[in-house]
Amino acid sequence: MGIEYGMKGGALRWIRNPFTGSVTYFNEIHRKPHSFRRLTNPQNVAPPTPLSPEALEAEKQQVQGACVFCPGNEARTLHEVMRVPYGDLYPTAAIPGGYQPEDWAMRVIHNIIPRIPEECTGDRNESYVIMEDARHFLPGATRLNDLMWSGALTADHFYRVLRLAAEVIGHSFDNPAVKSVLIRKHQGRESGASQPHIHMQVIGADRIFPDIEQEMEVTAKQPDIWQDSIDFMHTFGFNLEASDGIVSQWSSFGKFPRHFEVISLQDWQPLHTLPDGRLRLFSQFIYRLLRALGPDPYDLEIHHGEGIPLHMHLNARRYVYANIGGTLNSPSDLAENVLPPTRDMVQQLARQMHTA
Ligand SMILES: [Zn+2]
Ligand SMILES: [Zn+2]
Repeated sequence: MGIEYGMKGGALRWIRNPFTGSVTYFNEIHRKPHSFRRLTNPQNVAPPTPLSPEALEAEKQQVQGACVFCPGNEARTLHEVMRVPYGDLYPTAAIPGGYQPEDWAMRVIHNIIPRIPEECTGDRNESYVIMEDARHFLPGATRLNDLMWSGALTADHFYRVLRLAAEVIGHSFDNPAVKSVLIRKHQGRESGASQPHIHMQVIGADRIFPDIEQEMEVTAKQPDIWQDSIDFMHTFGFNLEASDGIVSQWSSFGKFPRHFEVISLQDWQPLHTLPDGRLRLFSQFIYRLLRALGPDPYDLEIHHGEGIPLHMHLNARRYVYANIGGTLNSPSDLAENVLPPTRDMVQQLARQMHTA
């Protein structure tokens, strides 16, 4: 069946997600005027007066003192499952943030509220939180908004985060009641993150997550659907980079209009059984995308398992969103870029992925 789409006037106008059946239209919704903004008192949106270095330091201390994910507040979380000290993560390079080799750099705890009720997973809480770094703020933060984010870690640090997540997946699968485990991450309040401190989640469930089940069903019927999707995105200029059997692309198949995917067509196996070299490659594709997207809000999920290729979905969230009866709206200038030589939005992002 392949990919269903419609072109009018030389440009891509719509595309159907082969997994969910939802349709993305390319239009101008992101350009419509927003009257809400005008109702806001300009005094409330003016940038705050910068704090003196002393006042900023005092405020940072206060924020870190109150943050349950910050070092020093370990007793305020549920019990620790794993930890990785900075000495393991930076055996030769200088340890950032003034930490000692024995201090934890990453920590895994049970989520205080399991996403899947414990009663469904053999009375064990299978929702985990991974603190990706002990640092709450970016080095040299000048505002309280300058939070540490995944793209600001080193590439190797981010790979270690994903490797730790893979270990947690294996740990969760030790529970016979667990049938599927996925990695999910929110960055920024607009994406639903409840904690500003850099973290991701690993969630085990008593069933195959419905989105993954749907992907497995469609893939079983149409084994070429992933390659077809990749070819399609490539044809229309949505490809960001490709090597080693891994592709990253600005995909039109999201639940939100600005949706990105990293797909490894070589790795059709659960993440925690992936050879280390492949995990590292996959992590670096994600890392370059995260770094290029910057500290803006997003959510991401990593899907894996028998019957589907390892892949990640990322929804960039600081954009106008409309989901009407199974249709989404994506920027039309993205689709118009089908016609060379512009393709600006995709190319600009691809460039950002390859500049430090
Ligand atoms: Zn913190
Ligand atoms: Zn998926």
